[in-house]
Amino acid sequence: MNKENNLDPLRHTLAHLLASAVLELYPNTKNTIGPAIDNGFYYDFEFPTDVKLSDKDLHDIEKKMKKNLNSWKEFTHKEVSEKEAKAHFKDNPYKLELIEEIVGKGEKITLYTCGDFTDLCRGGHIDNPSKDIHGDSFKLSHIAGAYWRGSEKNKMLTRIYGLAFETKERLDEYEKQKIEAEKRDHRKLGKELGIFTFDDDVGPGLPLWLPNGAEIIEELEILAKETEKDQGYKRVRTPHIAKESMYLKSGHLPYYKESMFPPMEYEGGKYYLKAMNCPHHHKIFSFSQRSYKDLPLRLAEYGTCYRHEKSGELFGLMRVRMLEMNDAHIYCTEEQFADEFRAVNEMYLKYFKIFGIEKYIMRFSTHDPKHLGDKFVNEPELWKKTEDMVRNVLIESNIPYIEIANEAAFYGPKIDVQVWSAIGREFTLATNQVDFAVPKRFNLTYIDNEGKEQTPLCIHRAPLGTHERFIGFLIEHYGGNFPLWLSPVQVKVIPIAEAHHAKANEIYEKLKERRIRVEIDLSKEGFGKKIREAKVMRIPYFIIIGDKDIEISKVTLESRDHGQIGQLSEDEVVERMVKEIVERR
Ligand SMILES: [Zn+2]
Ligand SMILES: [Zn+2]
Repeated sequence: MNKENNLDPLRHTLAHLLASAVLELYPNTKNTIGPAIDNGFYYDFEFPTDVKLSDKDLHDIEKKMKKNLNSWKEFTHKEVSEKEAKAHFKDNPYKLELIEEIVGKGEKITLYTCGDFTDLCRGGHIDNPSKDIHGDSFKLSHIAGAYWRGSEKNKMLTRIYGLAFETKERLDEYEKQKIEAEKRDHRKLGKELGIFTFDDDVGPGLPLWLPNGAEIIEELEILAKETEKDQGYKRVRTPHIAKESMYLKSGHLPYYKESMFPPMEYEGGKYYLKAMNCPHHHKIFSFSQRSYKDLPLRLAEYGTCYRHEKSGELFGLMRVRMLEMNDAHIYCTEEQFADEFRAVNEMYLKYFKIFGIEKYIMRFSTHDPKHLGDKFVNEPELWKKTEDMVRNVLIESNIPYIEIANEAAFYGPKIDVQVWSAIGREFTLATNQVDFAVPKRFNLTYIDNEGKEQTPLCIHRAPLGTHERFIGFLIEHYGGNFPLWLSPVQVKVIPIAEAHHAKANEIYEKLKERRIRVEIDLSKEGFGKKIREAKVMRIPYFIIIGDKDIEISKVTLESRDHGQIGQLSEDEVVERMVKEIVERR
């Protein structure tokens, strides 16, 4: 997310610079596309088959970029005909394909030139790169394989990644954070801590939650269910598939088709795996004639959705093909909307506090009146009213937010929630949406207090996002050191020698009775090794029992985060655990 201090032009310009350097050093290379990304830029190339890039080569390319930068004083561009464009890129099948596509969409073809390098591009550069880009604020970082257009059916290209920031200091800071993030990589820790895995026979992007991961999920669901129950939500459960007709009605077909799994033929019709829970919930709303007395109706479900993501874009738990969403739909009247929206925000704040999320922002996307009727559903008054209400609630609740015009969803304003992990990396956790078009498509109505039929508003909300993304975030946020209440194993009892087994079993049973997730290590391993193993698994507490403890009828409590706590009675230990768990500290 760099729309706020927009680094996209800088980064995109550097992608051009990279391509210029590569084509000079490796003349027979075919350049394809090179966008700006979150931390910099990349460019995909097809190198001649005899070229195998090494780190040293990256260094040389980077040097060349820095040299070329000096002479990059100005971008010029011109619109060209299809013929001219094709002549320019006659040896580059990738560019030819892109040109075809631009022509197909009826868009203009533009060529951008800076220094000696010309590329097919839509624009968005730094005006004077030599002046506005510091040579030490970017660097090439690594190489990866990438399929052309992300599809495994296509050729594998070489992607060169670069990092770029406004200053060298920001670049250094980013790199430091990255080293920390690697240590906390959710894919690495997820495996080490027995949280999740993937299996080829199950399929890419389809996570298998291991017992430790399932424990974390259970706890998150308990938290969500308690919170939602307190706020008057009603739980529902819906099938994972539905007939084509429903998705035609919801508009997911054909508009969202790309993101859905292909249909299965069944009983003479088509069924789709559900990509969203909303249509199912709408059907539950319309199960009976609703009256204003039924509203607000808040339907909640940890709903499982399936989405088609290109295999090249799958990424650990962050980009998956199956997701379990902390979903709910709130059907309400216009009068009730502000209060409902406020309550959703309060729920967020409650969760942020529990998870120690200190930095967050809401990106509030609004409509643009110029595009009513094409990009945005034509309900000018409703747009204004709901946007004003959302804005007021955000201001009243003192929630940091930024407003972005013209980026709302088709059917209403939306709020993306961005949070920062403990090491300062940014994640998008969830999106809330206001919806005033779909209820109409589904003919959702209620009878108001004058006996007239009305269409409710619908709020889509998912504060804990999906289990996949949220747990991926939490693994990094906590660095694997989950707080006690979320830890898959909460306490480990470790007797020093066999003579202490009986006493160890005693406290083990007491903890178990209170449903604390406890393990006991009665193995013949040395004491040091037992402790090390518990530490590797990031278990928050261990209870050690030796002669000195038995003498005074106590046990020694040690904490992962605070070290030795001291000798306590069994009951003291149990009560301390229970309190910390209940308070979700
Ligand atoms: Zn460009
Ligand atoms: Zn929804």
